[in-house]
Amino acid sequence: MKNFELWNPTRLVFGENQLENVAKHIPAGTKNILMVFGGGSIKKNGVYDTVKGALKEYNVIDFSGIEPNPRYETIMKAREVALAENIDFILAVGGGSVIDACKFLCVAIPFTESDPWDIIKKGLGKKVTEAVPFGTVLTLPATGSEMNSGSVVTREGTKEKLAFGGPLCFPKFSVLDPRVVASLPQRQIVNGVTDAFTHVLEQYLTYPAQAPLQDRFAEGILQTLVEIGPQVIANPGDSTVTGNFMWCCTMALNGLIQQGVPTDWATHMIGHELTALFEIDHARTLAIIGPNLYRVMFNNKKDKLVQYGERVWGITEGSEEEKAQATIERTVEFFHSMGIKTKISDYTDNHSDVAKTITSRFEERKWLGLGERGDITLEKVQEIVEMSI
Ligand code: NAP
Ligand code: FE
Repeated sequence: MKNFELWNPTRLVFGENQLENVAKHIPAGTKNILMVFGGGSIKKNGVYDTVKGALKEYNVIDFSGIEPNPRYETIMKAREVALAENIDFILAVGGGSVIDACKFLCVAIPFTESDPWDIIKKGLGKKVTEAVPFGTVLTLPATGSEMNSGSVVTREGTKEKLAFGGPLCFPKFSVLDPRVVASLPQRQIVNGVTDAFTHVLEQYLTYPAQAPLQDRFAEGILQTLVEIGPQVIANPGDSTVTGNFMWCCTMALNGLIQQGVPTDWATHMIGHELTALFEIDHARTLAIIGPNLYRVMFNNKKDKLVQYGERVWGITEGSEEEKAQATIERTVEFFHSMGIKTKISDYTDNHSDVAKTITSRFEERKWLGLGERGDITLEKVQEIVEMSI
């Protein structure tokens, strides 16, 4: 196991009826809260009224309209409102997009040195020293953003989708009330299962690191997602099932399973480009790219593919090579079983230059060697993307 330092200051508040208690977690001294949300799902499912009701002691100002794959341009409008209204706390009520938007917003508000986009573009997330504190009410289990310090923001003008993060971007608290899953469309539930599943694979399907507990944490999340994914789809109103689903998604990316082990993240980095270029849902880009990345990087992944196949899918027949290959196929079948399509051409016809566009963007950013061994070169990226068309 590699050396590590684990620090996660987010207070996680889990369970039914926790929405009603959100005010308990707002820091003392708070006066003006900016409540940030998306396109209106929270008004339809009652979450807005419940949270608003719980916060009646505070001056709460709404900022709505954060889009899926949150836009820098929209967040900058929220920044203006926050400055004008003297906001001292931000409450994100939504999925990964709203939460990620608030992570950028919280550090962008006090940032005056230059264009706040520099925080993302120049990687200043770990250097900024000031942030407005924020909390979250999660409405869509998927990203783990409710308990990590990472964020992904899209700049509409340049069609760039980039990740950033830093210690000031941890939520102060996150409320996880499983009742919110009841109103989720099936598309978003299967996206959530797929995103969380791939988060685990990014941190597990690397090379063996003599970290058996970390492996078993990862396998436990994968097995639980395989088991309860179909149950959540069939019964999104069952809070027992949806609560476990929420917890899986949080655990998949709250920093715990990545400790002491090598991590990959190239599937996400390539996937972000597909969302930026074609607006394909984040999770679906991962289902497109992940399996092809395991095929192209087969030698790097083989040992762990065999272990993952045996322990999660019960694949025990054949040579090591055959078991590893069968495991990739079984993973693709899992995505297909939830109705997730796994080719770029299933989503757009406009893909003729996609591999070239992505590799030239990576070259510009000097992303010349991705993955746990730094050996996913531009040529490999090209091969992965071409295989995914
Ligand atoms: P999302 O983009 O936050 O939301 C997708 C859709 O679901 C929205 O249209 C939203 O509608 C709707 N929705 C949310 N909660 C709902 C509910 N309870 N009932 C009905 N509809 C609901 O989806 P997401 O998958 O959570 O987030 C994706 C983003 O997170 C991407 O930008 C991705 O790159 C990023 N991401 C971040 C991390 C991280 O660690 N920070 C990790 C992975 C991915 P409304 O807008 O109307 O609310
Ligand atoms: Fe993700």
